Amino acid sequence: EDIRVYEFAEKLKRPMSDIIKVLFDLGMMMTKNDFLGADEIEILSEEFGVEVTIIDPKDEFNYVEEAESQEEEGEERPPIITIMGHVDHGKTSLLDAIRKAKVTEDEAGGITQHIGAYTINQHGREITFIDTPGHAAFSSMRQRGTDITDIIIIVVAADDGVKPQTEEVIKIAKDSGAPIIVALNKMDKETANPDLVKGQMAERGISPVDWGGDIEFVPLSAKTGMGLDDLLENILLTADILELKASPDANAKAAVVESSLEKGRGPVATVIVQNGTLKVGDNVVCGKAHGRVKALINENSKQIKSVPPSHTAVVVGLNEVPAAGEIMMAMKNDKEAKEYAQKRYEYDRHKELSKSTKSTLEDMTSMIAEGRLKSLKVVLKTDVHGSLEAIKSSLSELRNEEVKIDIISSGVGGITENDVELVGNSENCVLLGFNVRPTGSVKALAKQRNVDIRTYSIIYQLLDDMTGMLTGMMAPKF
Ligand code: GDP
Repeated sequence: EDIRVYEFAEKLKRPMSDIIKVLFDLGMMMTKNDFLGADEIEILSEEFGVEVTIIDPKDEFNYVEEAESQEEEGEERPPIITIMGHVDHGKTSLLDAIRKAKVTEDEAGGITQHIGAYTINQHGREITFIDTPGHAAFSSMRQRGTDITDIIIIVVAADDGVKPQTEEVIKIAKDSGAPIIVALNKMDKETANPDLVKGQMAERGISPVDWGGDIEFVPLSAKTGMGLDDLLENILLTADILELKASPDANAKAAVVESSLEKGRGPVATVIVQNGTLKVGDNVVCGKAHGRVKALINENSKQIKSVPPSHTAVVVGLNEVPAAGEIMMAMKNDKEAKEYAQKRYEYDRHKELSKSTKSTLEDMTSMIAEGRLKSLKVVLKTDVHGSLEAIKSSLSELRNEEVKIDIISSGVGGITENDVELVGNSENCVLLGFNVRPTGSVKALAKQRNVDIRTYSIIYQLLDDMTGMLTGMMAPKF
């Protein structure tokens, strides 16, 4: 059964602050309304010497129940939407079309900018879209257990049908338990065949409502704008069932969807507020990073004073770049924020260490086998954390019985002379840049050191190239 911190405290007849303190000392920051995971419950029951039986209601009606349990004190908040789908099926076009048609530019007429998320107004009701390419941000958030997506839109081009990444996305969406809406895109094309797509999706457990299933399929065109309103209305109807609530007066808790190091501004992070209201002047902690919110900038490039639940802004004022998927929390004061950041640092280190020793012991045999593998060494630089993590995890999966990829260094930021030196000193090594390019002097050094710099702006091209290189490294077969 899902149990919140305060409910757990009541059951144990202990003050809530005791529970929160134990969690805090372990580097887990929770407030009274947060749900406890199985791990936390285990730790707490050990700590307090009680026995706990966990009943897990994992049936098909999971999310309806979740929706019910979200009926709590608090105010209605806009739904948060993630759009996923196969490359070229129109995710970016759809996000752009919705933004263009629906973002309410304020009177001063700010310029709409890509910050990683935006909020639209549909007949007086708001919807927030996570505006990052592919499902990179979604995956890195899920890895951290930061599920902020309320509803998932799966885009399928009606002229192309279900493709490998569509299947991947179906799996991710099902695993997350969030309600799904299918956007049948490119309906303006003569070759569009929505029924074919419906059949392919139904075969994979995504059954259209008009075929007696429970998933809405919305025909639309990101190009002409046809069907966009239907999609938005469908999102709002689904949100009504979910009854999404948050407490604007609570201490702010937000999730990072994108982050980077910006010239002049320092570390910046685009966040979506989950609960409470994030304000300029708040002392915040965000993983190992902390700071005081110096400025909040919305998707219209306007400085704002506060961000209510389900809304988004770029946060300026952190001391380092937090990873995508990290939780940002407002703390009482600067001291508390620093202390927490330090604890988190130690906690992460501890986890990292215990993970690496565990895998060495368990995977001894495969490690020995790997000793015989040839490896292609990679130095990777990207513009934002989200893509860094997505690419790293995809690269580590690229391997076969003979060759594998070994990421010897990676980070967010431009390609530096250091990176070139690193590659130049290693055998079988390439320098990869994703949405970052080398400057003239770095290029010159690369040429002189005979270093191969490859830059990309599409993850799948990068992965394709690496697959090609791995294949090239395999022993020739005659
Ligand atoms: P993404 O890779 O999923 O983000 O796909 P994009 O949004 O980049 O779209 C891929 C291509 O499909 C681009 O050339 C778009 O112009 C085109 N496209 C996207 N939506 C539509 C649509 O509704 N109709 C037509 N005809 N083309 C579309």
